[in-house]
Amino acid sequence: MRLLGIVLGITLLAGLAFGGADSSFDPDQNIWTLSNGWIRASFQLTPEGFFRTQQISDLQSGDQWTASPNSPTSPVLLQTDSDLFDAQTHYFLVAEYAQSINPGGIRQFIMLQDVQRRARITLILELFNDHPVLHYSLKYQNLTAATSHITWINMAPWTFDDLGKRYTAFRVNQWSVVAKPADFEPLQSLLDIGGAGVAVDSGADGEQCGWLALRDSEERGLFTGWEFDGRTKTTVRQDGSNGYVEFSSTVLDLNHPVDPSGELQLPNAFIGLFHGDWDEAGYRTQRFAESVLAKPAPDAKSFPYVSWDSWAYQDQIDEQTLRRSAEIAADLGVQLFVVDMGWALGIGDWHADPAKFPSGLDALSDYVHSLGMKFGLHFALAEADASSPVLQANPDWTATDSSQYFGAEPLCLSNLPTQAWLIQEGIRVIDEYHVDWILQDGQNMVKQCTKTTHTHDPADSNYANSVQGINAVVSAIQQARPDVNWENCEDGGNMMTFNMVKSYVTSITNDASGSLASRQAVYGATYPFPPRYAERYMPESDGLTDYATHSYRFGGPWVLMTRLADLLADQVAFLKSEVQNYKNQRTDISAGKVFHILAPGADATDVIQSYNASTDTAIAVVTRAASAGPSYVFRPKGLQEQQRYTVWFEVAPDVYSQTGAQLMANGFRVLLPTPYSSEVVHIEAQQ
Ligand SMILES: [Zn+2]
Repeated sequence: MRLLGIVLGITLLAGLAFGGADSSFDPDQNIWTLSNGWIRASFQLTPEGFFRTQQISDLQSGDQWTASPNSPTSPVLLQTDSDLFDAQTHYFLVAEYAQSINPGGIRQFIMLQDVQRRARITLILELFNDHPVLHYSLKYQNLTAATSHITWINMAPWTFDDLGKRYTAFRVNQWSVVAKPADFEPLQSLLDIGGAGVAVDSGADGEQCGWLALRDSEERGLFTGWEFDGRTKTTVRQDGSNGYVEFSSTVLDLNHPVDPSGELQLPNAFIGLFHGDWDEAGYRTQRFAESVLAKPAPDAKSFPYVSWDSWAYQDQIDEQTLRRSAEIAADLGVQLFVVDMGWALGIGDWHADPAKFPSGLDALSDYVHSLGMKFGLHFALAEADASSPVLQANPDWTATDSSQYFGAEPLCLSNLPTQAWLIQEGIRVIDEYHVDWILQDGQNMVKQCTKTTHTHDPADSNYANSVQGINAVVSAIQQARPDVNWENCEDGGNMMTFNMVKSYVTSITNDASGSLASRQAVYGATYPFPPRYAERYMPESDGLTDYATHSYRFGGPWVLMTRLADLLADQVAFLKSEVQNYKNQRTDISAGKVFHILAPGADATDVIQSYNASTDTAIAVVTRAASAGPSYVFRPKGLQEQQRYTVWFEVAPDVYSQTGAQLMANGFRVLLPTPYSSEVVHIEAQQ
């Protein structure tokens, strides 16, 4: 990082440009303006000493989001024990400076001190080239002589003039522990102008993905996401009589102690602009997440992987069955071979069971490697059996959480001695068993813990067990063994956050719950998240039909949970060709824009489509569940109007040649002759 300028006090620093992203400071008016050709955001330290948001503009569409005169807003919104820091707090400017950052962008620091000298608060604003997204966070420093507690923060501190319009909010459920038909259901709600909020309850064990979008009837839209894995409550509401819309996003039960002179960096969040429909909101979010936030994919050309997972046998696994499965998996084209729960002596006793692996688990891993596949292992790091040696020796290491995972007890990951043991165990497991991939599993990865005997503050469980718990443990193991990739799972996609994407290369969505649930999970998860974060496990019960394999075509890693040794020769041949089809399309789908055409339902036909601008190709999976008609007229989206395309199908023999305009306006018929039939449609630009 280059430090391009440090300006103490109020000094001129105007017009620093960084290949697109630019931050300028007007010292006469104390106004900061950040822009990058897509978005412009301005903030002011007013003559009275209030720090306030002025406006966020969409420079492509001309849309404006302006602070409401009736409800001034500040990006600095937090509460310590008895002190509220908000748009009415008086500050003076201590320093301000800008840096260039990677990937291409600018970071602006604005350091404020409240006139009562209780706190110094640094606002950190970031713009990246070509993204209509403002990324931001706060750093708090305690200037008092006593320990203070941060008890409330607002990670979505935005209030805008409503311009007298009506607004619709959009959010997406995540997977829930109690299986619900509403898993990953997208939810659209017209805001009540009387001020009733629409809420997103996100984080581990929450109900929704950590993302919220809003638009008015003229398609002027905003989206916001927050980078925190614990429980949060985010709302958007409209006060029609006072003419504003207001966002709020808080970390639940926050009570984080900060020593005198101590500092705390609060979670990052982002606000982005879109003009159009929810697919456009999702696409802009996904592009930003992929280029700025997400852990890079292991290999852009061969990811999402095709995997095999031993849960076909539950915990009844043994060396012989797994070696035979590995041979067939390699023949099918499987890239990652995962030994699921059951390999260890017990949950929390992370040593391979010698009765199941008489030659050693490392020998199986080496065999898998010799067949050209990567080796993955199940690791439920936040759980331990009461009978495990670690809990026998340290019975106080449990959390007070009520969650249960296959009878194991929850561990408190923010208790430092527990954490130190876990980090060392994680590194040992990776080294001893030659592991390339960790399938992180468990029940509620951010445990509740109110014990007074642990190193964290007993009243700060949610923050402590996320940032200083699961995040700290995973990050320490990853720093020690950076070549190992991690998959997020907590029995299902139950921590779908924009902090999760920073540590994991994928996340399970629905766990082995079958074709329909898999398509529902992908349909919902691919609004906020790139397709590679919608991993699906295909259970044995799905059978081997076009309908089943097509149901897993679109999304993140495709994990086979099939008893491979039981397959007949023609089933092996079928699966092999479907694995190849998946591989042929995964990079197009991963890099494309997702169009959500028709949502899955038990008695419906569903359609999901991707369009990749760089290859000018589209792929759609069209699936008929229990009923609906024998055909569907599909009007693809996103094509170039003048371009002529070839349309072909994986099941039907038909081939069409039409322009993008014709295809999008008139559509074409996709045959779905029987219940549980499906088709994969390919649309390719002609040279
Ligand atoms: Zn604890």
